[in-house]
Amino acid sequence: MGVAFKLECGTCHYNSIIYEGIGFMYISLKSIASFVTDPVLKQVIGEFMEDGSVSYDAYKALYVCPQCDGIQNELYIEMQSDRSQYRRVCNCKRCGAEMEQTPIEHNVPIRLTCPDCRKSELKAMFCMDWD
Ligand SMILES: [Zn+2]
Ligand SMILES: [Zn+2]
Repeated sequence: MGVAFKLECGTCHYNSIIYEGIGFMYISLKSIASFVTDPVLKQVIGEFMEDGSVSYDAYKALYVCPQCDGIQNELYIEMQSDRSQYRRVCNCKRCGAEMEQTPIEHNVPIRLTCPDCRKSELKAMFCMDWD
């Protein structure tokens, strides 16, 4: 099960709901492949599924851009088989930089700068559990 929280800026109108953790769709690679929209990732998952001996770790994560403070809520996935391994890297949609996962403490992320005005720190509120 995962948690959802709402991020809000006190200075501008930025707000978004972020999902974090593991939902029921993450129980198998087949199920993950069914909701993934990135065609490249879909293909990679398909190749691993054919390998048979795959172990994987997948969850929804909060990513922050170290360059422009952009925030994205993306699927993290790593897979390992006898033949190959894969680890998903998330790039910022605004500037293309490689994003960093932000740790969550007590159901909310630790300090984040507003990606829009970049003047205030975002307030995070726990919303709900999801699965
Ligand atoms: Zn703001
Ligand atoms: Zn960026």
